[in-house]
Amino acid sequence: MKLPETSLNTAEMKVNGIVKTTRDAAEIGDEHVGTSRETPLKADAFEMDEEVKMDKIAYHFGEIMDIMGLDLTDDSLRGTPDRVAKMYIKEIFNGLNPENLPEVKLFENKYNYKEMLVEKGVTVHSHCEHHFVPILGQAHVAYISNGYVIGLSKINRIVRHFSKRPQVQERLTEQIAAELKRVLKTDDVAVIVDAKHMCVSMRGVEDTSGSTITSHYGGVFQTNNQKRVEFLKYIEMD
Ligand SMILES: [Zn+2]
Repeated sequence: MKLPETSLNTAEMKVNGIVKTTRDAAEIGDEHVGTSRETPLKADAFEMDEEVKMDKIAYHFGEIMDIMGLDLTDDSLRGTPDRVAKMYIKEIFNGLNPENLPEVKLFENKYNYKEMLVEKGVTVHSHCEHHFVPILGQAHVAYISNGYVIGLSKINRIVRHFSKRPQVQERLTEQIAAELKRVLKTDDVAVIVDAKHMCVSMRGVEDTSGSTITSHYGGVFQTNNQKRVEFLKYIEMD
């Protein structure tokens, strides 16, 4: 796994015995910018066993709850650290592990279908990597076959895989597009993500009406305006 390229300067300081890097909150702030198309992962991200990861997360999440003053002996709270750990590793962030990338079988385009195929309204359930709160929305995807087609559900699975990571919406859009281009062996791919960020609605400016739209137009979707308009018409966003 490639390490992220970042132009941010980092400096370490110790606060109450804990090493902190001064970039993070101080430099990125609430701007919701990502630093690269690849998810910033450590080189040894998947060397630790998943069971060990869950034990460690449960321990540390329990510490967070304890620091906040919650009584972990309470029946309702006792299992929360374990539940959160399992949810992180097995569910909402299982798209971090490349082993979980959906396998996609290519079929020959026997119908000789030459128009665009649009899959609209694909569920996006992701999490903002700056606040670890949900990003909820939809993805609209189009491609034009280069002689190959894939099962429709594979598009949903690819969207879901990259959503199940701590994300920024721009990167999510680019990662979905890049994977579709790779498996379909064509650049003629368009992706639009329209999503609401809970970190904008539940905190910060607390705006509940706005949503964020990001797009990627590859191949003919970039060079041929008509194709783009046709796609937008199908998803009723033009
Ligand atoms: Zn956020």
